[in-house]
Amino acid sequence: MAHYDTAVIGGGLLGCAIAWHLARAGTRVLIVEKDQVNRHASGQNAGSLHFQLEFRMVEHGDDAARLAARALPLHLDAQRTWAGLEAALGAPCGVALRGGLMLAETPAEVAALDRKAALEREYGLDVQVLGGPQLRELAPYLADTVRAAGHLPGEGKANPRLVTPAFAHAALRHGAELRTGHRVTALHRDGGRWRLSTGDGRSDTADTVVLAAGVWTAELAAMADVRLPVFPVGLTMSATARTAPLLPHLIQHVGRRLSMKQTAEGNVLLGGGWPAKLVTRHGRTDLDRNPELRYESLTGNADAARVVPAVMRLPIIRSWSGMTTLTPDQLPLLGPVPRRPGLHVATGGSAFTLGPTYARLLASTLLGDRPDLPLDDYSPARFGALNFV
Ligand SMILES: Cc1cc2nc3c(=O)[nH]c(=O)nc-3n(C[C@H](O)[C@H](O)[C@H](O)COP(=O)(O)OP(=O)(O)OC[C@H]3O[C@@H](n4cnc5c(N)ncnc54)[C@H](O)[C@@H]3O)c2cc1C
Repeated sequence: MAHYDTAVIGGGLLGCAIAWHLARAGTRVLIVEKDQVNRHASGQNAGSLHFQLEFRMVEHGDDAARLAARALPLHLDAQRTWAGLEAALGAPCGVALRGGLMLAETPAEVAALDRKAALEREYGLDVQVLGGPQLRELAPYLADTVRAAGHLPGEGKANPRLVTPAFAHAALRHGAELRTGHRVTALHRDGGRWRLSTGDGRSDTADTVVLAAGVWTAELAAMADVRLPVFPVGLTMSATARTAPLLPHLIQHVGRRLSMKQTAEGNVLLGGGWPAKLVTRHGRTDLDRNPELRYESLTGNADAARVVPAVMRLPIIRSWSGMTTLTPDQLPLLGPVPRRPGLHVATGGSAFTLGPTYARLLASTLLGDRPDLPLDDYSPARFGALNFV
């Protein structure tokens, strides 16, 4: 048995990034991961660094978009953070910020793009809606059906296979301990400390615990007798065969699910929120099984890519699924859990794009500093009515 200042449960991007901040501040940190570092969402995702509001945030109308926009201060911070991340970690992460375009093809979509850009500008995100020759000059590869695009110069991509391992290595260099292949099976308060036990019968204590367990976060919260409304969502990704450079930008669509980018190796990655089917067992979602691919998502995603005709000619060589975490209001769940002294959570939202920012802010809270952005809108306290004890 050992004692730590902080035990971080989950070796995804969030867990490893939080551990890095805490370890380099000189605190004693343990990361516990039931599988391997980067095995789940953090290593399976599309690698989009989208700082504009996403389609899923605007598709449910203006009120829902206005609510989701409360995360825009995090988007602005993330844009700055990614620009300096490789230097800060001393490792390549495949970061390329050559700009992003959110496309509109119909008059209604152009109007939606204008409303979205106006909302984003209220928060200081400088999205410009481009059309006509200006757009064609910037993105000559777009189909004629594209009428306009929201352009944000700092958007782009990073390589999900590199980012989390880079955070993990940096955390280890600063003295964090990493235990992989150990599943936390019990978590409770014991004499003013948290005691966490793993399946092998080992038990350790920590002053503070961070739940950074992705779709398993609710399961872990329940071990501490807390209900957190986080929902798993199955998502689909596909990759085309490699081709010569054709797509410098991150592409999204304001009227349908689509994200598209070209990797450094030349493959084009297609995603953007196409569902995969969660596996159920005895009537409950089995989080330990990868979601099943859906034919409709594979064809729908490929069809959405027609906005870049050159991509339609490329063969798809691989498709995969993964799970991500949603909260009821699409905002992050970030901060201390009320009535559970020392228990913190970090999940929800686009936690690849926003993960380094969540990590820095949560680590400031844990270190007793005042975070430089207010976290009230993301606090687990907004779901306090779900908890009676
Ligand atoms: C297909 C797909 C595409 C996506 N595309 C994007 C994108 O382009 N841009 C973007 O911003 N976001 C994207 N996302 C979302 C993004 O990947 C996630 O928000 C982010 O990776 C979450 O990181 P995490 O560290 O919270 O979770 P995870 O990476 O899931 O890590 C959680 C870890 O906790 C571990 N764990 C769970 N329970 C226990 C336990 N009891 N004991 C020990 N360890 C435990 C798990 O094994 C896991 O490794 C995508 C997600 C998917 C699935």
